Amino acid sequence: MAKPILLSVDDDSDVLRAIERDLRSRYGAEFRVIGSDSPAGALDLLKQLKVRNDSVALLLADQRMPRMNGVEFLQEGMRIFPDAKRALLTAYADTSAAISAINEANINYFFLKPWDPPADHLYPQLDDLLDDWRASYRPTFEGIRVLGTRWSPRCYELRDFLARNHVPYQWIDIELSATDPETKRLLDVLGPEAASLPVVLFPDGTKLLEGVPAEIAQKVGLRTRAQTNFYDLAIIGGGPAGLAAAVYGASEGLKTVMIEREAPGGQAGMSSRIENYLGFPTGLSGGDLARRAVVQAQRFGVEILSPQEAVSIRTEGPYRIIKLVDNSEISCHALLVATGVQWRRLEAPGIDKLQGAGVYYGGGTTEALSCRGEIVYVVGGANSAGQAAMNFAKYAEKVVLLVRGDGLASTMSQYLIEQIEQTPNIQVWTHAGVAEAHGDTRLEGISVRCSDTDKIERVPANAMFIFIGALPRTDWLAGVVERDDRGFILTGPDLMRSGERPKGWTLERDPFLLETNVPGLFAVGDVRHGSVKRVASGVGEGSVAVQFIHQYLSKV
Ligand SMILES: Cc1cc2nc3c(=O)[nH]c(=O)nc-3n(C[C@H](O)[C@H](O)[C@H](O)COP(=O)(O)OP(=O)(O)OC[C@H]3O[C@@H](n4cnc5c(N)ncnc54)[C@H](O)[C@@H]3O)c2cc1C
Repeated sequence: MAKPILLSVDDDSDVLRAIERDLRSRYGAEFRVIGSDSPAGALDLLKQLKVRNDSVALLLADQRMPRMNGVEFLQEGMRIFPDAKRALLTAYADTSAAISAINEANINYFFLKPWDPPADHLYPQLDDLLDDWRASYRPTFEGIRVLGTRWSPRCYELRDFLARNHVPYQWIDIELSATDPETKRLLDVLGPEAASLPVVLFPDGTKLLEGVPAEIAQKVGLRTRAQTNFYDLAIIGGGPAGLAAAVYGASEGLKTVMIEREAPGGQAGMSSRIENYLGFPTGLSGGDLARRAVVQAQRFGVEILSPQEAVSIRTEGPYRIIKLVDNSEISCHALLVATGVQWRRLEAPGIDKLQGAGVYYGGGTTEALSCRGEIVYVVGGANSAGQAAMNFAKYAEKVVLLVRGDGLASTMSQYLIEQIEQTPNIQVWTHAGVAEAHGDTRLEGISVRCSDTDKIERVPANAMFIFIGALPRTDWLAGVVERDDRGFILTGPDLMRSGERPKGWTLERDPFLLETNVPGLFAVGDVRHGSVKRVASGVGEGSVAVQFIHQYLSKV
């Protein structure tokens, strides 16, 4: 933990050195002692310390300084660090000025120069001041801080990225500055820069204006570039299926890289509670599952590139080559596609405009806390919508589940239906679909089409989370990998037509169970045609695929 700071200011360098020396010798173990030879320089320093979220315990300033005297400096410093104790150093001749400063300018104490011996004339009084300061001191947050507004899509995207990549951060909603003096002080120190949201402040004092995930990924050490350009096994997609393949592949000696566009964990990482995964009788959150899997994969030496996106693949003899969004390439012997599915878009006026500003696709784990005391709409009748409703019900005043059909029985697991029935602040609105989202810069209401009465009802809403099924996004594989008419990848027996192997297939064997029409290119998890859309089945397929990969590699 960073030590709180004792800052002294004196334009006389001999006096400054002497006071720094005395402060350090008594308080150096607990505090960081910093000196400045000008009030202007010291104020700049205080602003930097505020941006870094440091704590200042004491401001000690000489009264007689050019351009700005000690009292003036302490008053300015107090605006930035109001909790710091403030003391003046004065010559005997200035005693009366110092006494009136104590009364008029909220100065805590004054010391006469010279203060020798400090044990008599400096330390006892400073001990008192610092004891007083310690009594109300609360250590500040030491990680990344993100300043923004709740209704900004860019801020939402960034927070979601940090949360899903398990990067700890503190969120500062600048709209609350009117009621939070500390936020107001931080905005004052940032000045015009505070308009370039989201502003990301790092503990080393650096900042990013209009921060985007890729820049922050670099800064916090997430790896986006491969260490080498050849691997035994490359995996595209870091959901449960990709992570399982990575763990099994690397643990069995394959040099393995995993490429993930957003954050390891995939769709499962957005689940607030997975109740049916074997070995976790009380359930676990998707975030927790992802974190554990990433640690396990890294322990076996898997290289994880995230955020990084695969945009095309091609084959050159025994090599499978992946082109990444930054134009770099990775080549490998065996390639496994585990890119899952993405949420289907809801087609209604206003939805696209307000996405990230009250309208969200999927989990919304980042947003759950912000919905405290509000009415939240969840669109969809499957398990994912049910889980989200249960999660929001912990914070929101009321959760309304908008379901197109006449109930949940045919689309949701019984255990979730029972949980929803037992949660008084969840209301299920059946025969209901979203006709329009209203609001200019943020969601303010929605129009709900009621199919049983054929009426449209407009209701106020702050947040709406959409879970209406998902489709694979595999266009980038077109022309190389065979897919069904919805974009799911065909593997194994699904590729055989009337006993014939797929077109262009050159090997003297049929494609393996999870192999595509390209030898050595495998597909697992939700992206695969005919897959069971569950965490356990994705994990199972990812693990089993590694056995086929070994068989394939033994003949390359
Ligand atoms: C809210 C919610 C709750 C759920 N609850 C449960 C539950 O309780 N129990 C259960 O068994 N299942 C549950 N599921 C389903 C389960 O999460 C999925 O079946 C599972 O995540 C599928 O795993 P996957 O690895 O195949 O794909 P995904 O988890 O979808 O992962 C695919 C990954 O590939 C990445 N990707 C996509 N394209 C590219 C590219 N071009 N380059 C690089 N990376 C790419 C994506 O960013 C994503 O991270 C839930 C799903 C959701 C959304």
